[in-house]
Amino acid sequence: MTATDIETERHIDRSAMTVSDEVAIEIRGMNKWFGSFHVLRDINLTVYRGERIVICGPSGSGKSTLIRCINRLEEHQQGDITVDGTLLSSDLKNIDRIRSEVGMVFQHFNLFPHLTILENCTLAPIWVRKVPKKEAEATAMHYLERVKIPEQAHKYPGQLSGGQQQRVAIARSLCMNPRIMLFDEPTSALDPEMIKEVLDTMIGLAEEGMTMLCVTHEMGFARQVANRVIFMDQGQIVEQNEPEEFFNNPQSERTKLFLSQIL
Ligand code: ADP
Ligand code: MG
Repeated sequence: MTATDIETERHIDRSAMTVSDEVAIEIRGMNKWFGSFHVLRDINLTVYRGERIVICGPSGSGKSTLIRCINRLEEHQQGDITVDGTLLSSDLKNIDRIRSEVGMVFQHFNLFPHLTILENCTLAPIWVRKVPKKEAEATAMHYLERVKIPEQAHKYPGQLSGGQQQRVAIARSLCMNPRIMLFDEPTSALDPEMIKEVLDTMIGLAEEGMTMLCVTHEMGFARQVANRVIFMDQGQIVEQNEPEEFFNNPQSERTKLFLSQIL
C-alpha cells in the first residue's frame, strides 16, 4: 500500500472540500507536562470548520497527547483550548459538551468484545444520549451502511478483520453525531490490504465536510485530503503548510530529516 495506490484508485474532488472561516478549535499558549517532563510546548493552533489537518512527526513528539487534550483525555496545565466556542476547563459540564461534539478513533479500535457490532454502536447513544433503542439502532445501521459493513451488525468484534473493526469504530463515533473527528494513527495497526478501506472511509467523511484532525503517517492521504499538514517534534509545532508546499519545500531541517525517513 503506497500513496500512489490510493491516488490511482480514487479521484477526489478537492474543490468540493471547502473550509469555512468559522473557528472549530482554538488552542492558545498551551503547555502540558507529565510530571516534570514538558510534553507540549507553547502550542498555538486555530482549526477552521471543514479543515482536514494531518499531524505527523516522530514517535514521542506529542501528537497523541495534543489530540487527547482536545477532548480532555489528557489535561493541559497552561493555556486555553476552546472547542466550538466552549472553553475546556475543569468544569464537567463543558467537558461533556465538548466530548459530545468531538469523536475520536484510536489506533486500537477499543470496541467492546462482548457486545455485538450493533450494540457497540448504540451503547453510548442509548445510555449517554437517552436515544430510544429503535432509533439508535436505525442510526447505527445507517452509519454501518456508510462504512460498508451493515451485514456485520450482529457479529462480535472478534469475528471481524482489523479493517472492519476500525470501520465499526468510525461508525460508532459517527452515531454520536460529532462535528469534529480526531483520528490517532487509525491505520497503523492494520495489515496493508486493510489500510485502504479505512482511508476510503475517512476520505468519504472529508468529502462530506467533516472537520478532521488526523495523526497519520499515510502521506498519500495527507497529499490528497489534507488542506494543511502539521509537523511536530519534541512537543512543538515545528512547521505547517498546505500539503504541496509541505512535501515539496519543507523549511526546517527537522522536517526534512523526518520526510527523508518516511517517504
Ligand atoms: P506521539 O503520539 O507523538 O508518539 P505521545 O503524545 O504519545 O507522542 O507522547 C509524547 C511523550 O510523552 C513521549 O515521550 C511519551 O513517552 C510521553 N508520555 C505519553 N503519555 C504519558 C503519560 N501518561 N505519562 C508520562 N509520559 C507520557
Ligand atoms: Mg501517538
